[in-house]
Amino acid sequence: MRNTHGYAAFDPQSPLGPFSFPRREPLADDVVIEIHYCGVCHSDLHQVRNEWHGSSYPMVPGHEIIGQVLETGAAATRFQAGDWVGVGCMVDACGACPECQDHQEQYCDHTTYTYNSPDPHTGLHTYGGYSKLVVVNQRFVLSVDKSLDPAAAAPLLCAGITTYSPLRHWGVKPGQKVGVIGLGGLGHMGIKFAHAFGAEVALFTTSEHKIADAKKLGADQVILTKHTEQFAEHALSFDFILDTVAAPHNLDPYTACLKRDGVLCLVGVPDQAHPSPNVGNLIFKRRAIAGSLIGGIRETQEMLDFCAEHGIQSDIELIPLSEINHAYERMLRSDVKYRFVLDLKNYAPT
Ligand code: NAP
Ligand code: ZN
Repeated sequence: MRNTHGYAAFDPQSPLGPFSFPRREPLADDVVIEIHYCGVCHSDLHQVRNEWHGSSYPMVPGHEIIGQVLETGAAATRFQAGDWVGVGCMVDACGACPECQDHQEQYCDHTTYTYNSPDPHTGLHTYGGYSKLVVVNQRFVLSVDKSLDPAAAAPLLCAGITTYSPLRHWGVKPGQKVGVIGLGGLGHMGIKFAHAFGAEVALFTTSEHKIADAKKLGADQVILTKHTEQFAEHALSFDFILDTVAAPHNLDPYTACLKRDGVLCLVGVPDQAHPSPNVGNLIFKRRAIAGSLIGGIRETQEMLDFCAEHGIQSDIELIPLSEINHAYERMLRSDVKYRFVLDLKNYAPT
C-alpha cells in the first residue's frame, strides 16, 4: 500500500477536511495516476450530504479525474509513464454481463464506482479524486489528447459523458430542436454538444443573469422558467429535452413543449421525487419520459476524442482544494461558471 493525501467528508454535516489514506500497490493491469485536476460534480454534494442515502464515511469524493501516469503494472500495456489520462465515475465492472458485453458498464449490477462503492481490493469502500494519487485498472482509464487543456477537460469525465451519451443515444441531429434544462456543470456541456451536433438549442433556466452566457455557449434561445407564459410559445416544438436540474420540479410544462414522439430525458438526480407527471401529456402525443446514467467507457473515449477534434472543453473555475466547502455553497446557489475544478497538482498537505 502507498499513502496519499486528499480531502474527505467525515459525516453528512461537517465541512470536508484533510485526510490521508492508502492506495493499493498496482496489480498487473493497474495504472498509477498522479491526479492533477478533479472536477466538482453536484453528485459529490448529494453524496457528501447523504442525500441519496447509503453514504460511507470518511468519503473522498471526485469522479472527474485528470492526471498523468506515474507507473503501470506488468500487463497494463495501453499506457506509459507520462501519458495524460482520465478516470470518470467507474473504476470496475463485472465484464461478463450483457451490459458490460454491450459496452454499457454503467448499467452493470456490479459496477465499482470511483468513490463510495464497496472496494473488493481493500474490503472497505473506494476513495475518489479529491486526492493526489489513484490506482485504476487500465480498462477504466481514458486517453486524453494533448490538445485539450487538462483542467478544462476534467469535467468531461462526468458532466461531458452524461450529456453526450443521451444526445447520441436519441440521435440528435441537424434540423432538430433540443432543450437543456438548467445551466450548471451538466447543462453547459449539454448546450455545447447539442450545438456541435447541429441542433437548434434552447436553454430553460431559472437564472436571468445566465442569458448572455448561454448564447455564447451555443444556445439559440433562452426560456426563463419563471415566466410561465414563455412555455406556451414553445408548445409542441421540441424533439428532445435534457433535464439536468438537481432539485424536484414539475415536469409537465416541459413534456407539453415536446412534439409528438418527443423525449424528455432526466439526468438530474434530486434527493426527492419529482411531482407525478401528467400522463395525458404523454399518451396523447406518444411522448416519453426517460432517464440516462453517465455513459460506457468506450463511449467516454469517443466523447473525449470528439472534444479534441472539435475543440470542446468545459468552462471552469480552478480552485485550491481548501476552497471545496465554499465551492459547494456556491454550487447550491447556482453560482459557478460553469464547473469548479480542484487544483490537486499544487496541493501540499500541511
Ligand atoms: P449544477 O452544476 O449544480 O447545475 C444544476 C443546475 O440546475 C443549476 O445550475 C440551475 O440552473 C438548475 N436548477 C434550477 N433549480 C434548481 C434548484 N432548486 N436546485 C439546484 N439546481 C437548480 O449540477 P450538475 O453537476 O450539473 O448536476 C446536475 C444533476 O445531475 C445533479 O442532481 C447530479 O447529481 C446529476 N448527475 C447525474 C448524472 C447521471 O449520470 N444521470 C451524472 C452527473 C450528475 P439554472 O440556474 O440555469 O436554473
Ligand atoms: Zn458527476
